[in-house]
Amino acid sequence: MSEDCIFCSIVAGEIPSRTVYEDDDVLAFLDANPLAPGHTLVIPKAHHEHVQDMPSDLAGDVFAVLNRLVEPVESAVDADGSTVAFNNGEVAGQEVPHTHGHIVPRFEDDGSRPIHSIFGDRPNLADDELDDIAASIADGTDD
Ligand code: AMP
Ligand code: ZN
Repeated sequence: MSEDCIFCSIVAGEIPSRTVYEDDDVLAFLDANPLAPGHTLVIPKAHHEHVQDMPSDLAGDVFAVLNRLVEPVESAVDADGSTVAFNNGEVAGQEVPHTHGHIVPRFEDDGSRPIHSIFGDRPNLADDELDDIAASIADGTDD
Protein backbone atom coordinates (compact mmCIF):
# COMPACT_ATOMS: atom_id res chain seq x y z
CA MET A 1 0.00 0.00 0.00
CA SER A 2 1.19 3.49 -0.83
CA GLU A 3 0.53 6.40 1.51
CA ASP A 4 -1.75 9.07 0.04
CA CYS A 5 -2.95 6.80 -2.78
CA ILE A 6 -6.71 7.04 -3.11
CA PHE A 7 -6.99 3.64 -4.81
CA CYS A 8 -4.88 1.97 -2.09
CA SER A 9 -7.30 3.53 0.39
CA ILE A 10 -10.21 1.97 -1.53
CA VAL A 11 -8.46 -1.43 -1.48
CA ALA A 12 -7.95 -1.03 2.28
CA GLY A 13 -11.64 -0.19 2.80
CA GLU A 14 -10.83 3.28 4.13
CA ILE A 15 -12.73 4.97 1.28
CA PRO A 16 -16.03 3.54 0.01
CA SER A 17 -16.48 2.31 -3.54
CA ARG A 18 -19.20 0.69 -5.56
CA THR A 19 -17.36 -2.59 -5.97
CA VAL A 20 -18.43 -4.75 -8.90
CA TYR A 21 -15.71 -7.43 -8.73
CA GLU A 22 -13.06 -8.51 -6.24
CA ASP A 23 -10.58 -11.33 -5.88
CA ASP A 24 -7.26 -11.71 -4.06
CA ASP A 25 -5.34 -9.54 -6.51
CA VAL A 26 -7.78 -7.39 -8.48
CA LEU A 27 -10.58 -4.95 -7.62
CA ALA A 28 -13.13 -3.31 -9.90
CA PHE A 29 -15.48 -0.50 -8.96
CA LEU A 30 -17.58 2.22 -10.53
CA ASP A 31 -15.78 5.45 -11.39
CA ALA A 32 -16.90 8.17 -8.97
CA ASN A 33 -17.07 10.77 -11.75
CA PRO A 34 -18.20 8.66 -14.70
CA LEU A 35 -17.73 9.57 -18.34
CA ALA A 36 -20.78 7.43 -19.09
CA PRO A 37 -23.20 5.31 -17.03
CA GLY A 38 -21.42 2.10 -16.04
CA HIS A 39 -17.90 3.59 -16.27
CA THR A 40 -15.83 1.02 -14.37
CA LEU A 41 -12.22 0.95 -13.18
CA VAL A 42 -10.15 -2.23 -12.82
CA ILE A 43 -7.06 -2.08 -10.59
CA PRO A 44 -4.43 -4.39 -9.14
CA LYS A 45 -4.79 -4.40 -5.36
CA ALA A 46 -1.05 -3.91 -5.02
CA HIS A 47 0.20 -0.40 -5.68
CA HIS A 48 1.89 -0.08 -9.08
CA GLU A 49 1.95 3.30 -10.76
CA HIS A 50 2.20 2.28 -14.40
CA VAL A 51 1.08 -0.67 -16.51
CA GLN A 52 4.68 -1.74 -17.05
CA ASP A 53 5.39 -1.72 -13.30
CA MET A 54 3.11 -4.70 -12.71
CA PRO A 55 4.68 -8.15 -12.76
CA SER A 56 3.41 -9.94 -15.86
CA ASP A 57 1.26 -12.43 -13.95
CA LEU A 58 -0.55 -9.59 -12.19
CA ALA A 59 -0.93 -7.70 -15.48
CA GLY A 60 -2.51 -10.87 -16.86
CA ASP A 61 -4.87 -11.02 -13.90
CA VAL A 62 -5.93 -7.40 -14.42
CA PHE A 63 -6.54 -7.96 -18.11
CA ALA A 64 -8.49 -11.14 -17.39
CA VAL A 65 -10.83 -9.13 -15.16
CA LEU A 66 -11.21 -6.43 -17.82
CA ASN A 67 -12.04 -9.17 -20.29
CA ARG A 68 -14.56 -10.70 -17.88
CA LEU A 69 -16.26 -7.40 -17.00
CA VAL A 70 -16.77 -5.79 -20.40
CA GLU A 71 -19.87 -7.81 -21.21
CA PRO A 72 -21.64 -7.31 -17.85
CA VAL A 73 -20.74 -3.62 -17.82
CA GLU A 74 -22.15 -3.11 -21.31
CA SER A 75 -25.24 -5.17 -20.50
CA ALA A 76 -25.93 -3.31 -17.25
CA VAL A 77 -26.39 -0.03 -19.11
CA ASP A 78 -27.53 -1.43 -22.47
CA ALA A 79 -24.42 -0.07 -24.21
CA ASP A 80 -23.52 -0.66 -27.85
CA GLY A 81 -19.79 -1.03 -27.17
CA SER A 82 -17.10 0.34 -24.91
CA THR A 83 -13.78 2.10 -24.85
CA VAL A 84 -11.26 0.08 -22.81
CA ALA A 85 -8.14 2.06 -22.02
CA PHE A 86 -5.34 2.98 -19.63
CA ASN A 87 -4.02 6.51 -19.23
CA ASN A 88 -0.42 5.45 -18.61
CA GLY A 89 1.69 8.21 -17.07
CA GLU A 90 0.97 11.80 -16.14
CA VAL A 91 1.77 13.04 -19.65
CA ALA A 92 -0.95 10.70 -20.95
CA GLY A 93 -3.53 12.12 -18.54
CA GLN A 94 -3.13 9.65 -15.67
CA GLU A 95 -4.37 11.50 -12.59
CA VAL A 96 -4.40 8.67 -10.05
CA PRO A 97 -0.88 7.18 -9.82
CA HIS A 98 -2.11 3.61 -9.24
CA THR A 99 -2.56 1.90 -12.56
CA HIS A 100 -6.18 1.32 -13.59
CA GLY A 101 -8.02 0.21 -16.68
CA HIS A 102 -11.13 2.12 -17.72
CA ILE A 103 -14.19 0.45 -19.20
CA VAL A 104 -16.31 3.28 -20.57
CA PRO A 105 -19.61 2.16 -22.11
CA ARG A 106 -20.33 3.65 -25.52
CA PHE A 107 -23.65 4.36 -27.19
CA GLU A 108 -24.53 4.92 -30.84
CA ASP A 109 -25.53 8.52 -30.19
CA ASP A 110 -23.09 9.47 -27.40
CA GLY A 111 -21.22 12.03 -29.52
CA SER A 112 -17.89 10.81 -28.15
CA ARG A 113 -14.95 9.92 -30.33
CA PRO A 114 -12.39 7.14 -30.69
CA ILE A 115 -9.05 7.09 -28.82
CA HIS A 116 -7.40 8.38 -32.02
CA SER A 117 -9.13 11.72 -31.49
CA ILE A 118 -7.03 12.58 -28.43
CA PHE A 119 -3.97 12.88 -30.65
CA GLY A 120 -3.03 15.71 -32.98
CA ASP A 121 -1.43 15.40 -36.38
CA ARG A 122 0.14 12.05 -37.15
CA PRO A 123 3.96 12.13 -37.37
CA ASN A 124 5.47 11.65 -40.80
CA LEU A 125 7.98 8.85 -40.18
CA ALA A 126 10.46 7.63 -42.78
CA ASP A 127 10.84 3.90 -43.42
CA ASP A 128 14.26 3.78 -41.71
CA GLU A 129 12.87 5.50 -38.62
CA LEU A 130 10.05 2.95 -38.49
CA ASP A 131 12.58 0.13 -38.92
CA ASP A 132 14.72 1.52 -36.06
CA ILE A 133 11.72 1.92 -33.76
CA ALA A 134 10.47 -1.59 -34.49
CA ALA A 135 13.95 -3.05 -33.89
CA SER A 136 14.34 -1.14 -30.63
CA ILE A 137 10.97 -2.35 -29.35
CA ALA A 138 11.74 -5.92 -30.36
CA ASP A 139 15.12 -5.73 -28.54
CA GLY A 140 13.36 -4.45 -25.42
CA THR A 141 11.12 -7.51 -25.21
CA ASP A 142 14.10 -9.87 -24.97
CA ASP A 143 14.62 -9.69 -21.21
P1 AMP B 1 -7.10 8.71 -14.74
O1 AMP B 1 -7.21 10.10 -15.30
O2 AMP B 1 -6.91 7.66 -15.80
O3 AMP B 1 -6.05 8.65 -13.65
O4 AMP B 1 -8.50 8.39 -14.10
C1 AMP B 1 -8.76 8.47 -12.74
C2 AMP B 1 -10.21 8.16 -12.55
O5 AMP B 1 -10.43 7.87 -11.19
C3 AMP B 1 -11.14 9.31 -12.92
O6 AMP B 1 -12.05 8.87 -13.93
C4 AMP B 1 -11.86 9.63 -11.61
O7 AMP B 1 -13.21 9.98 -11.80
C5 AMP B 1 -11.71 8.34 -10.83
N1 AMP B 1 -11.72 8.46 -9.38
C6 AMP B 1 -11.00 9.32 -8.63
N2 AMP B 1 -11.26 9.13 -7.33
C7 AMP B 1 -12.15 8.10 -7.25
C8 AMP B 1 -12.80 7.42 -6.18
N3 AMP B 1 -12.60 7.74 -4.89
N4 AMP B 1 -13.66 6.42 -6.49
C9 AMP B 1 -13.89 6.06 -7.77
N5 AMP B 1 -13.29 6.66 -8.82
C10 AMP B 1 -12.44 7.68 -8.57
ZN1 ZN C 1 -2.09 2.77 -4.70
